[in-house]
Formats: sequence, C-alpha cells, structure tokens
Amino acid sequence: MADPVVPEPDHKDWTWTLDRSCSECGYEANNYDRSEIGAKIRASAATWRGLLSGGDIVSKRPPDGDPNSPVWSALEYGAHVRDVYELFADRFDKMLKKKNPKFRDWDQNKAAVKGKYHKQDPDQVAYGLAVAAGAMADRFDKVSDDGWARTAERSDGASFTVESFGRYLLHDIEHHIHDVQQGYEQLRKKK
Ligand SMILES: [Zn+2]
Repeated sequence: MADPVVPEPDHKDWTWTLDRSCSECGYEANNYDRSEIGAKIRASAATWRGLLSGGDIVSKRPPDGDPNSPVWSALEYGAHVRDVYELFADRFDKMLKKKNPKFRDWDQNKAAVKGKYHKQDPDQVAYGLAVAAGAMADRFDKVSDDGWARTAERSDGASFTVESFGRYLLHDIEHHIHDVQQGYEQLRKKK
C-alpha cells in the first residue's frame, strides 16, 4: 500500500482552550484540580485501548474508509497520541530541570509519515500509548507546589507553566478521542 496523503497541517493555536471550553469536544481546562491530571491521563489511556480494539475500522480513514481521505484513522490518531505523550514527557523533564526552556516546533505530519502510523499494529499502538501515558501520569503525580509554576516557551512565543502544559496536553488527548469517535460514527453510517 502506498503511503496515504498527509492531512493538512494543523496551524490552529489551541492555547485558547485553556481559557474557555472547546466548542468541538466540550473539554473544559479548568473544571478539575491540577492534582487530577495524572489520574485523567490514565483514564484516557483506557479509553484509547477501547478505541483501538474495534477490528478493521481502526485503520480506516473517515468519512468513507478512503486511504487518501484527509482525516486520520483511529490507528493514526492513537500512534500520534502515543508520540505526543513521549514528546511531552521529554518537554516536562526539561521544564523541571532548566529555566524557562524553549520548545522547538514538532511537525506531527512528518512524524506520522516517518513513523508509518498507518502501518502500525493497533494492539502495539494501544500498548505503547498506555506505557507512555502511564509514564506521563507518574510525572504529574509527583509535581511539587513549586514545580507547578515552572515555565517554558513555545517557538511561537506562547508561554506555559507545568500546570497549563498539563491542562493543554489533556485537551489534546481528549480532543483526539472526540475526533476518533466522530470518525467511527461516519464510517459506520457508510456501511
Ligand atoms: Zn477540543
């Protein structure tokens, strides 16, 4: 199978979701305590395990299963989320060790092509996602009061604390769960 067309890069700045609820997935960044971030990450990993164990549909791209559709399959989203957790764990460690580190851009589409997300095994992706989510959750569980206030900057100038970084990360993960659920709805309607 040829490599599928890469979706349009997502240039949207999602940092606004830290201030108000997301109109697409309904996520509200500030309606829970920061001490719950770790537990919420673990819970999301369980949801992903379910989403990635649906049979053939897991590797189909919505809305109609066409491999050249511009929307990622559940499998591709799952591999992306696993890699996001790994990237964010690395960034998290830098935030705690260095003073206001700057994060370089991460091209998620390049990562998807290079990692051949569409050819990965869904069970292995689910397992890798759970491991990466667990490692990330452990980090958040151990943050001290001072640690929550440590800062970092993104290459576009957006500024984060460890706390807002965690809330932002959770939105990313929850939003992709919503993406996958919507994709499944569209794919099932087609049958
Ligand atoms: Zn959202």
